[in-house]
Amino acid sequence: MVTVSDDVSAVEVDLVEGRIGCPRCGGRLRPWGSARPREVRGGLEEEGSPASRHRPRRGRCVGCKATHVLLAVSLAARRADAAAVIAAAVQAKVARGWGHRRIAAALDRPASTVRGWVRSFAASAEAIATAFMSLVVRDAPDAAALWPAPNRDPGARALAVLAAYAAAVARRFGVGMLAWVRAGIAATNGSLFSSSWWTRAGQHELALTPARWRPSGSR
Ligand SMILES: [Zn+2]
Repeated sequence: MVTVSDDVSAVEVDLVEGRIGCPRCGGRLRPWGSARPREVRGGLEEEGSPASRHRPRRGRCVGCKATHVLLAVSLAARRADAAAVIAAAVQAKVARGWGHRRIAAALDRPASTVRGWVRSFAASAEAIATAFMSLVVRDAPDAAALWPAPNRDPGARALAVLAAYAAAVARRFGVGMLAWVRAGIAATNGSLFSSSWWTRAGQHELALTPARWRPSGSR
């Protein structure tokens, strides 16, 4: 899985020109058909809109020959809801202390689904905070002002560190604002909200590639 811009034509150009790197060996990916279509329930900006169908592009590495699904930065791996919806649920839980039923009602999602999101985030909060703190240190060593204040709640700490990382990336690449969920999804190749991914996170290398989080329309 490789996270790419949600601008389909920009991804196509990047793929054809070999600008998307293989997460396994760093080689260049070439166009390699499409992955299975998936239904995605809309983001908050399209409240009430029906599920849309996405057919993610696939690329094949010229080096190691592995194929990778190119998942748009607005989507989370193995989740049927747009990443922004999951982020809103996590934020309501962590920042406002809402219970999962209230969040579910506000977002018009099943309570069990929302409970799964907030539990999963709580379970990986420590790992998220640790991993993204090291990215902030790596990518913005001069940005002490961005460093989050200490917080005893792991979920709040994770959100603060994600926000600091998004601000560091936005500053480094000169984009005005970058939502923490986009920055987090891009750096984890879509797995930000996957607690099973985080329990294996020692095997993963968090990566930062400009093309991955570039907001659509900014090229
Ligand atoms: Zn490769």
